[in-house]
Amino acid sequence: MSVLIYAENAGGKFKKSVFEAVTYARAIANQNNTSLVAISIGDVDAAELAALGKYGAEKVLNVSGEKLKNFVNQAYASIIAEAAKKHSADIVVLSNTFSGRGLAPRLGVKLEAGVADGAVALPQQDGGKFTVKKTAFSGKAFAVVELTSANKVIALVPNSYKVTETGETAQVEDFTAETKDSDFKAMIKEIVRSTDKVSLPDAEIVVSAGRGLKGPENWGMVEELASLLGAATACSKPVSDAGWRPHSEHVGQTGIAVSPNLYIAIGISGAIQHLAGISSSKVIVVINKDPEAPFFKVADYGIVGDAFDVVPKLIAAVKEYKA
Ligand code: FAD
Repeated sequence: MSVLIYAENAGGKFKKSVFEAVTYARAIANQNNTSLVAISIGDVDAAELAALGKYGAEKVLNVSGEKLKNFVNQAYASIIAEAAKKHSADIVVLSNTFSGRGLAPRLGVKLEAGVADGAVALPQQDGGKFTVKKTAFSGKAFAVVELTSANKVIALVPNSYKVTETGETAQVEDFTAETKDSDFKAMIKEIVRSTDKVSLPDAEIVVSAGRGLKGPENWGMVEELASLLGAATACSKPVSDAGWRPHSEHVGQTGIAVSPNLYIAIGISGAIQHLAGISSSKVIVVINKDPEAPFFKVADYGIVGDAFDVVPKLIAAVKEYKA
């Protein structure tokens, strides 16, 4: 028995969600007193691969090839399944990303495994039962699922598990697996970015705003501050429910979880459901005109004031600092 983690890369680099998934997979391996092997597919250099050891991978299988440079759902699933079989891995961990969500069901079929996608916590393994807490109904609720099969596939939601560095460098070895022509029936030919904005789940700085901003017409200053800081924009749930901002920006228990170095909350009250999605932020700055707003209790820095006075001043100060 062992645990296998698929480490997906973006342009040859691993994102934070991969380090979270490796840390998470390490914890599952520890629960089961077994080893952790990582697999990477595509063009990633040896130092980047070996660095997965810091998060607990003992060995990294490196799969490369001209046709494998971009993500190919069926082919990647065939390779990961073969690696799982060769390394007797009965638990495969993925990140719950676009590719992870594509791979999870395919691996479920290939490995005859039970699948828990959208996992948000470590599995519980009490009394012979293996249960996983996961998001349900598009993130509006949680479910606890029991995986009863011998093989299991778990996809971890980004920013739901803390990265910890426990090891050193991992041993890297090349791995080749059989693929068939039918694995390449649909291939990505070109990747075109639809926006130059920073992606919210990966952002190191997030500028977020709530109902205190009164209406969508007032988001210009939020966008401007975010752009100056190289930050992603986010919002509270009522704001996206009202259609002021897209649902992809909704942060919290029923939205996206973020884990930036800096989270700036403007005109957000700090309801518990909102805090659930931002609590692992390193530094929290709150701007709110109500000194009693609950958000101040978790803030590292708080500014009591009207957002329409404070934010323009903050923008001017950042501009002056950058000049
Ligand atoms: P409000 O609560 O209306 O707060 C607005 C804040 O702006 C106030 O604190 C006010 O003092 C301040 N303000 C007003 N004017 C100004 C000004 N000019 N300058 C500065 N400050 C000003 N919410 C989420 O965000 N994410 C979730 O994932 C989420 N999930 C939920 C799940 C469930 C099951 C439920 C029941 C609720 C959920 N909610 C969620 C809603 C949550 O309970 C709150 O209602 C919501 O977070 C409040 O949003 P808000 O802070 O933007 O608005």
